[in-house]
Amino acid sequence: MNRPGPDPLTSSTFSQRAHEQLGKPFLRRAVPKATDHAYNALRDRFRDHDYDALREQGRRIRADAVEHLDEHLATLVAALERNGVSVHRAADDARAREIIRGIVRDAGGRRVVKVKSMASEEIGLNPALEADGVEVVETDLGEYVVQLDHDRPSHIIAPIIHKTRGEVRDSLSRVAGRELPDDAAALTGFARDTLREAFLTADVGISGANFGIAETGTICLVTNEGNGRMCTSLPRVHISLMGIERVLPRLEDLAVMLPLLTGAGTGQLITTYVSLLSGPRRPGEPDGPREMHVVLLDNGRSALRGGAYQDVLHCIRCGACQNVCPVYRQVGGHAYGWVYGGPIGAVLTPLFRGMDAGGELPHASTLCGACDDVCPVKIPIHDLLHGLRSDRVRGDAAPRAERVASSLWSLAWSNPWTYRASVTFARVGTRAAARVPSGLVRRVPGAARWLDGRDLPGGPRPGGRR
Ligand code: SF4
Repeated sequence: MNRPGPDPLTSSTFSQRAHEQLGKPFLRRAVPKATDHAYNALRDRFRDHDYDALREQGRRIRADAVEHLDEHLATLVAALERNGVSVHRAADDARAREIIRGIVRDAGGRRVVKVKSMASEEIGLNPALEADGVEVVETDLGEYVVQLDHDRPSHIIAPIIHKTRGEVRDSLSRVAGRELPDDAAALTGFARDTLREAFLTADVGISGANFGIAETGTICLVTNEGNGRMCTSLPRVHISLMGIERVLPRLEDLAVMLPLLTGAGTGQLITTYVSLLSGPRRPGEPDGPREMHVVLLDNGRSALRGGAYQDVLHCIRCGACQNVCPVYRQVGGHAYGWVYGGPIGAVLTPLFRGMDAGGELPHASTLCGACDDVCPVKIPIHDLLHGLRSDRVRGDAAPRAERVASSLWSLAWSNPWTYRASVTFARVGTRAAARVPSGLVRRVPGAARWLDGRDLPGGPRPGGRR
């Protein structure tokens, strides 16, 4: 099931997409409620632990993995191959699609079942397979509904956070060919029965990889619905698509990284299923795939190493930064226009898709730092957003007026005298503007958009008095 239509990132602005999302009353209620729930679960999970110390351990493990990525990847590839896994390297999304299409074609695959994978969203895998006449079935319940509706996931962990139960019922009723009851157990029961048939008849299973453990050549998958195990053990062929940065040097690193991922993502001690996949079926084993492939996806990741944004490669895609972001909580994930929403999306999108396409996203942040405080691997997201804003203004992606204004601002705030003069000017200016009819103020270029949804207060006097 293809997702038709233009690329939202290049065919609309963040502001347009955000306005559209803000017009959805259910989203305005549901996203804050669900993200509050997730954040409270995280707090409860780590209440009796030193979360900061655990985060520091996680940061060190991820920093080591990324700092010595070539070495760990070489170890991972050698260990996977020893385990009988075919390893493929994909420099970009097109090559990754080509490799996976080739594997499916060689396997005579007509039906593919998939475990939720943001990397597969990133490379646009489903439409490519469907163009070859392959039926692709998403088997995570949320992703299944997203697929039925030709929609996009709007949260890393909770893909249909933006949908009502009624909408889910309508989607599943279309598949059933009858009106299903408005009851969560009945709806999931129907999905389970339908998907079971897909698991049993699929030729190929495709998953992502939460981690790839170099020491043992093991792909680690965490799921809550059991679909991961079905997809990776029932079909004849299993393909795991893994971003190269998801490597962990040692098996013992999982002792830190698993609780951090599951605790920060869902507040769980551990997810219902943790699968450690170390190769295809061996002689004498009764089940498991006959072939296992791992596709290592670069797609812009290597280029970030050694640069100002290397830390973003530490990300374990837990979604916690989305849950606490005051912007994401209002506009939801679709406003960001691409696969990754929220603070992590505002960093990854311009880096992966380029400044022209995603350069405005780092501005979709209050820079409050809540994302830094919650991130289980201590990524300084706020600094990365700052850096990207600065890069955009220094490059050509920002409008000329914004570049000139930023240069003047920077100049003024680099010297104590001009700093004080600019603050005085701003105070006098805003106090004067607050007294004139707002219609006049809105005529100032750029003021109308800024004043949408904001009042113009008189500036404070020195010492904080108005
Ligand atoms: S940036 Fe941190 S909090 Fe956000 S998804 Fe990545 S690991 Fe999780």
